[in-house]
Amino acid sequence: RQVIELAGVAKRYDSGGAPALGPCTLSVARGEALAVTGPSGSGKSTLLNLVAGLDRPTDGSVTVAGRRIDQLNERALATFRRAHIGIAFQFFNLLDDLTVTDNIQLPAQLAGAGRRQAAARADELMEALGIQRHARAYPGRLSGGERQRVAFARALVNRPALLLADEPTGALDSAAGHDVRGLLLDLRRTGQTIVLVTHDPTLARACASRTVHLVDGRIASDSSARAAR
Ligand code: ADP
Ligand code: ADP
Repeated sequence: RQVIELAGVAKRYDSGGAPALGPCTLSVARGEALAVTGPSGSGKSTLLNLVAGLDRPTDGSVTVAGRRIDQLNERALATFRRAHIGIAFQFFNLLDDLTVTDNIQLPAQLAGAGRRQAAARADELMEALGIQRHARAYPGRLSGGERQRVAFARALVNRPALLLADEPTGALDSAAGHDVRGLLLDLRRTGQTIVLVTHDPTLARACASRTVHLVDGRIASDSSARAAR
C-alpha cells in the first residue's frame, strides 16, 4: 500500500523556464521514513509543497493516501490535508496566544472532533512526547526543542497517514536537534509514514529508512532499489 504516488510530476514556476522539479516518479510505502535531501534550490520544498497539497504540479499526478489531490479545489484540499497529512515546520508555526494543549487540539477541533475527544487525544500525545508538564503553558515560554515537540504533537493529532517534517531541526541548537532526531526515530518505530525534508545528511541517515537525493529538481539517487525513476 502506497501512501504517496507521484507519477511524472513536474513543477515550473515560470512557463518556458526549466522545471524547479521533475519530471519525477516516486512512491512511498506505508511505514517508510523517507528523507529528501539536496542542496539549496534543488527542489525539496517544491516537492514537499506538492505532496502536502500546498501547491499544484504543472504536470503529472499526485496521489496521497489513495486520493488524487492535484485536481482538488482549495476547500477540498484543506479538508484532505487536515484529515490525512500532518506537517511540522522548521519554525514550528505555533499560535503564541494559545496554550500548548489548545495548539495541539486545534486541528482535531477543526476536523470536527468533539471537545472531550480532542482533549483526550492531546493528553495522549503530550504524554507520549514528554511535554505534559507544559500543557497549560504558552509556546513562548518553551525552549525550541519543546516547541518542536508541541508542533509534532499538533501534526499527529488527527492520526495522519503521512507526517511531513520540513527541516525540523533547522532552527534548533545541536542538543535540541538531537532530541528531535530521537523523536523522529521513535515515530518511525511506531510505523508512522514520514517524509523528512532536510539539507542535513546526518539527520537523514539517523532518521530515515530511505533517502532520495535531489539535484537541480531531479532524483539523482534513491537508496531504495525498488524506486521508479
Ligand atoms: P530547496 O527547498 O531544495 O531549497 P526549492 O524547492 O525551494 O528548493 O526551489 C527549487 C527551485 O525553484 C529554485 O530554483 C527556486 O529558486 C525555485 N522556486 C522555489 N519557489 C519558487 C517560487 N515560489 N517562485 C519562483 N521560483 C521558485
Ligand atoms: P523552506 O525554508 O524549507 O523553503 P518554508 O518555511 O518557506 O520552508 O515553508 C515551506 C512551504 O510551506 C512554503 O511554501 C510555505 O508557503 C508553506 N507554509 C509555511 N508555513 C505554512 C503554514 N502555516 N500553513 C500553510 N503553509 C505554510
